[in-house]
Amino acid sequence: MSTLEQLVRPNIRTLRPYSSARSEYQGIADILLDANENPFDTGFNRYPDPLQRSLKDKIATLKSVAAERIFLGNGSDEAIDLLIRIFCEPGLDHILTLPPTYGMYRVSADISNVAVVEVPLANHFQLDIDAISEAANAQSKILFICSPNNPTANDITLDSIRELLQRFAGIVVVDEAYIDFSAQTSCTTLLDEFDRLVVLQTFSKAWGLAGVRLGMAFAQEEIIELFNKVKPPYNVNQLTQDAVYMALENEEEKDDWVQQIISERENMIQQLPNFKCVEKVYPSQANFVLVRVSAPRDLYQFLINQGVVVRDRSKVLGCDNCLRFTIGNFDENAILLDALQEYDLQND
Ligand SMILES: *Cc1c(COP(=O)(O)O)cnc(C)c1O
Repeated sequence: MSTLEQLVRPNIRTLRPYSSARSEYQGIADILLDANENPFDTGFNRYPDPLQRSLKDKIATLKSVAAERIFLGNGSDEAIDLLIRIFCEPGLDHILTLPPTYGMYRVSADISNVAVVEVPLANHFQLDIDAISEAANAQSKILFICSPNNPTANDITLDSIRELLQRFAGIVVVDEAYIDFSAQTSCTTLLDEFDRLVVLQTFSKAWGLAGVRLGMAFAQEEIIELFNKVKPPYNVNQLTQDAVYMALENEEEKDDWVQQIISERENMIQQLPNFKCVEKVYPSQANFVLVRVSAPRDLYQFLINQGVVVRDRSKVLGCDNCLRFTIGNFDENAILLDALQEYDLQND
């Protein structure tokens, strides 16, 4: 058995997946009487391509990753859930997470009755490689790294990810939901070198398509085949495939949004420290900033009363007294800054 096969749950290794009509016949016959569809054309009377091939071809070009190394899911959240179900035996195996980080890794594990071992991020929210290595054992099937990390907004250095890929024996997932806002190279460039690496990206942030739910996983072909075996046959609907295909025709618009958001982010990072209620603004390579304030609950409620909702992260490990501000457009950010000014005046 290959090292990868050994990591896979035995029932998934031997699983015979559902074979859908559209996966059994892939030609271009004129008369489709194989899937019990309605013959009257609504634009959507046919089942979608279960492997989303035309979309993957476009994404392959965009990301310089072969189409065979791409999985598409109903948001990256589907990929996270599938990874846990592919590799982690409930009640036996566990995942490793590095708090403070994205909450879905734990929720997905909890739903599957898979334990979570937490190894907190260390200095400047970077990896504590020794602590991770010490925490890991044969039951540690997946390590989730988020870079840029949510909610701290920093990149995890590529060198430290590379070192972990060498030292950790399980699957290493690098969640790059915010990579478009970062100056760092994507870990997709490491796929040739490491066959236990999975890189997650999404159309929810930079591409402005959170509503259509499309997430990407990049990995060696054997891992993609496991995803395809376990996923619901038609997990990405036709409306989503069409909307993303169209968005990909206009990459310049995405690049323009990203440039504007980065420039607004730099402006916010410059302005925020001027307020008395702001104690610290953390560096950001994402489309949000983590800000330590004097009275998080009080300020949070004040902002709500001003019609601005931010995210309270003050109870999260390592984020004492912190709020997270998403970077909005110029007008939205100006309203937030005005509200902070007003708060300072009232608390003088
Ligand atoms: C927003 C976000 C995602 C996106 O999830 P989707 O299901 O693709 O919308 C993934 N990971 C992190 C860390 C995020 O913050």
